[in-house]
Amino acid sequence: MYITPQDELHVEYQGIALTCPHCQTLTHLTATATPKFDDLSQRKPKQVGVVFRCDACGEPVFLKFAVKAYTPARIELAQNYLEIERARENFPLTYLPEEAEGLFREALNCYAAGCFNAFGAMSRRTAQSLFRELGEQGKLDLFDTLQEIRSLAELDDETFAALRAVLFGSDSDPWPNQPDLDPQRAGILLEIMRDLLYQTFVRKARLMQAMTFRRFVAPTQIAAN
Ligand SMILES: [Zn+2]
Repeated sequence: MYITPQDELHVEYQGIALTCPHCQTLTHLTATATPKFDDLSQRKPKQVGVVFRCDACGEPVFLKFAVKAYTPARIELAQNYLEIERARENFPLTYLPEEAEGLFREALNCYAAGCFNAFGAMSRRTAQSLFRELGEQGKLDLFDTLQEIRSLAELDDETFAALRAVLFGSDSDPWPNQPDLDPQRAGILLEIMRDLLYQTFVRKARLMQAMTFRRFVAPTQIAAN
């Protein structure tokens, strides 16, 4: 990926695709404002910001790229980029107990803002709130669900140990009582939290709703003969 002396951004064949922070669609982006080649060549910033347009909704999406090299013919940019505004993570929060709902909502905001350790800390608080709400048996059930996710998702031992420590560790454990989370582990933790909360609350609540609905709309039995 590079910027030409004609101020044009050249992107690889497949282009850039991401989940748009405005319309939540996985979509391609079109560059609409690329900084000027001459200006960049003169100042040589370490990062370059480009404004794109979401091909689905037309709203602006701002990305930052690290510069790999300044040459007279092109300014080469790194493949990966930093999203300034990330798509919000959706989760049916209303199915959670009230306190956990508030805590996990904030956890999702931390994740969307790219504050991954804050996300880890709020996920732990969400878990602590649930342990209190569900009691000792509930905590054991949550742990079983976590084990299940581990084997389903084929998590490696190291990742699993770190994420278990985030959710089930105690604040009175020796420092650091909570392991640091890099973006990759935070992403895995997010999927674990989703699945854990879904299995524990959403699935049951939806099933109960569906059962109640069926009881009311059960078709009249047709008598044999
Ligand atoms: Zn969009």
